Amino acid sequence: MSAPAEEIAHALSRLALYWRAAGWRAAGAQGLTPTQAEILSRLAADGPMRSGDLARQLGVSAPTLTDAVSTLAAKGLAGRQPDPLDRRAARVVLTPRGAETAALLPEMPEAIAPVLDGLADSERAGLLRGLTLVIRGLQEAGAIPVQRMCLTCRHFRPHAHEDAARPHHCAFVDAAFGDGALRLACADHEEAPEEERARHFARFAAVA
Ligand code: SF4
Repeated sequence: MSAPAEEIAHALSRLALYWRAAGWRAAGAQGLTPTQAEILSRLAADGPMRSGDLARQLGVSAPTLTDAVSTLAAKGLAGRQPDPLDRRAARVVLTPRGAETAALLPEMPEAIAPVLDGLADSERAGLLRGLTLVIRGLQEAGAIPVQRMCLTCRHFRPHAHEDAARPHHCAFVDAAFGDGALRLACADHEEAPEEERARHFARFAAVA
């Protein structure tokens, strides 16, 4: 019997509540709001970024982003520098103190890691595949910001191999991989054209 959508929605909602509360605690421990902590973490992971790109990735409005960056600048944790690709534009950058603070922010709530580690490989792979499909659907519906995920990447070749354990292929590193290695925030991601994204999604979703 397949799981009812209401139960899955309830489970996701419980996780979101826990995650949000843990995020507030972790950010608060560094004297930050969750949005300010997200900005530091994102800049530490991806490097300097234009305000518009940062706002899109975090799913916040331009005024909210501007306020948060101004507060971070006042605390000496972030600043702005000219964009080398367009001198009229500016990028948000971390200061050395901002980088130190970002390193203190946990990647995930402390209690989650051991729980995920306790799952079997096949359970983790199934979870990642399901979440990837949900996130891709929400992204296509315009409900959440675009993620740098395999399903939207021009290097992704879903079910390109016969090997059931590693059916997908990443053309960027020219290697096969399985559902358990799907990426949701890949630094090498390059957005595929819309038609190609739809084709990849259909093929990925059709073969369980
Ligand atoms: S480059 Fe990254 S996002 Fe793209 S297919 Fe390879 S692993 Fe996935």
